[in-house]
Amino acid sequence: MGSSLSELPKSSVFTSKLPPDPAFETPESSHGAPRETLGPRMVKGALYTFVRPESAEEAELLDVSPKAMKDLGLSPEEEHTSQFKELVSGNKIFWNEESGGIYPWAQCYGGWQFGSWAGQLGDGRAISLFECTNSQTNVRFELQLKGAGRTPYSRFADGKAVLRSSIREYIVSEALSALGIPTTRALAITLLPKSKVLRERMEPGAIVARFAETWIRIGTFDLPRARGDRELLRKLATFAAEDVFGGWGTLPGVVSLPQSQPSDVDNPTRGIPRDDVQKHQGVEENRFARLYREIVRRNAKTVAAWQAYGFMNGVLNTDNTSIYGLSLDYGPFAFMDNFDPQYTPNHDDHLLRYSYKNQPTIIWWNLVRLGESLGELIGAGSRVDDEGFVKGGLTEESAPEAIKLAEDIIERTGDEFKTVFLNEYKRLMSGRLGLKSQKESDFQELFSEILDTLEALELDFNHFFRRLSKLAVCDVETEEKRKEVASVFFHTEGFGGIGYTDDSARARIAKWLESWRQRVLEDWGLENDENRRKSMMGINPNFTPRGWILDEVIERVERQGDRQILGRVMQMALNPFQEEWGIDKEEEERLCGDVPRFKRAMMCSCSS
Ligand code: AMP
Ligand code: MG
Repeated sequence: MGSSLSELPKSSVFTSKLPPDPAFETPESSHGAPRETLGPRMVKGALYTFVRPESAEEAELLDVSPKAMKDLGLSPEEEHTSQFKELVSGNKIFWNEESGGIYPWAQCYGGWQFGSWAGQLGDGRAISLFECTNSQTNVRFELQLKGAGRTPYSRFADGKAVLRSSIREYIVSEALSALGIPTTRALAITLLPKSKVLRERMEPGAIVARFAETWIRIGTFDLPRARGDRELLRKLATFAAEDVFGGWGTLPGVVSLPQSQPSDVDNPTRGIPRDDVQKHQGVEENRFARLYREIVRRNAKTVAAWQAYGFMNGVLNTDNTSIYGLSLDYGPFAFMDNFDPQYTPNHDDHLLRYSYKNQPTIIWWNLVRLGESLGELIGAGSRVDDEGFVKGGLTEESAPEAIKLAEDIIERTGDEFKTVFLNEYKRLMSGRLGLKSQKESDFQELFSEILDTLEALELDFNHFFRRLSKLAVCDVETEEKRKEVASVFFHTEGFGGIGYTDDSARARIAKWLESWRQRVLEDWGLENDENRRKSMMGINPNFTPRGWILDEVIERVERQGDRQILGRVMQMALNPFQEEWGIDKEEEERLCGDVPRFKRAMMCSCSS
C-alpha cells in the first residue's frame, strides 16, 4: 500500500497564496542566482523566500521512520529508491526550468526569545520542498529539510545541523507522535560525512527530512505585527483559517465559562458561517476571534500532554510555538527522569523560564503575544470587513472600544485555555492511573500526592506509571503487601531525598497505593482488574527516549559506526507500549530500565 514518491500528490498552497520575498519573486529568479546570494538579510512584506537546498556530497541515508512513510502515504519500498535518497538529502527538487513544478522555500518569521523581542528569525536552516497529501487520509503535510544550507534567515549561522541534534529530533519527534502527542514529524535522517560543522567542537553534519501539517508558528504573526504590516497579518490569518485549519467553519463557537460542563467546553459547536459575529455576554466574537481560540485550544491540549507525559520542549520561544498545537523545534528538550517540577533540560535557562512547571504559563504567555498580533482584527468585531477598517485600520474614535473588546476576548480565552488544559490534563492523568471516571478529589488525593511523593523520594516519573500498570489490586490489598510492593518504584540503588528511612518511604507510597486501590476498584471492580491493567499498559509507555539513551545512540552512530542502533531505537520509540520488541532482549531491558544514576536529568545547550 502507498504510492511512490513521483505519484504522491504534491502542492504548494503556501507559496501560491502568500507573498514571496520581493528580491526573488519567482522560482526562476532564485534558481538563476548564485547560491551565496541567498544568504542572510532582512526580508519585508513577505512570508518566505524561494531557495534551493545545497547539494550534498556522499550523503548516507541512515534511517527512515516506517510510521512516517505510512502517514505520508508512501509505499515502504520507496525508501530504497535513489529518488528517495536524493530527495531527503537535498539533492533532488521537483522543479526544473523547462516544465516548472514546485520550488523549495524558507519561511520568514520573528519571535520572542526568553521574553525579549528578537526581530526577524525565519527558517535559517530549514527548507521546505513541497506539500503532499496522503490520498487515503486526505491529510496534507509540508515536507522540509533541516540542515540543507543557508537561507536569507540564517543570520550569523551556517545553515547546517549536526548529527547529534539531528538524531535527537529524528527519534524524539517520532516518539511523541507514537504517544499520541501532536508534533512535527521526522521521515528520514541522512549523514553528510563531508560536511564538518563547528559547534563546541567539529562535528559531522546531517539532514533531517521532517514534515508537519503546517510550520506556521506564533512568531510568523509576531513579525508583521512588529513591522505594522496589517495587510500581511490579515492575509496570514486568513490563510491559517482557510488553508491550514480547513475553513472558517471548522473553528469553535462560543462556550460559556465557567458555567459550561467540561464536555461542552471540550466539544464546542462548530460550523459557524464565516461572517457570523457571535454575541456572548455582550461581547462580539468575529471569525478572527474564533481563529485565535482554536489556536489557543490546540496549544492547551498539547501542553497538557507534555505535562502528563513529562516532556519538556526546553526553548518555548514564540518562534517555537506552533499555531497548530504541534510540539515544535527539537533543541534542548527532554523527557523527565526523576520527577522534578523545577527541571529544565536547557543548560542556558538559568531563570528556569522553560522548566517543567512553567510550561503551561509560558505557552499562555506566547498565546497572549498572538492575541496582541491579532488584536486589531479581533477588536474590530462586526466591523472587521468595513472598507475603512480594512484599508486604514482603527481610527482615534474606534480604537478604545476595539482595544477593550480585544482585551476582553483575550482574557476570556485565557479562561478557556485553563479549562481546556485542565480537562485534558485530568483526562490523561486519570488514564495514566487507570481510572475510567473522574472525581473532584482525584486531583489532590491521587495526582498531587503521587507527584509530591515522586519528587520527595526522587523517583522516576514515567517508570512509576508503567510499574503501577503491572500491579494487580490484589498485590496491594493489605498494608503489609503495599509496603512490600512499594519498592518496585525504587531505583536499583533505592530512593533519594532527605529525611526518609526505608520504612517511612515505603509507608508513604503504601498510603497512596491504598487510595489508588479504592479508586480503581470503584471504577473497574475486582473482576475487571486484568482489563484495567491492559488499558494502563496501552497508555503508559515502557520505552521513552531519555537523554542518556539518545547520548548512547549518538555515540554509537558517530564514533562506532553502528548503523543498526538507530532503527532499533526507532522501532522501540514507535511502539512504546510493547513489553518487548524481539530485537535484543538484554538491550531492550537495559534501555527500558533504570536510568543510570549519574545520567539522570541531563542538560543540553542550544548550539545544535
Ligand atoms: P532555535 O533556537 O533553534 O529555534 O533557532 C532560532 C533561529 O535561529 C531560527 O530562525 C533558526 O532557523 C535559526 N538557526 C538556528 N541554528 C541555525 C544554523 N545553524 N544555521 C542557520 N540558522 C540557524
Ligand atoms: Mg526555532
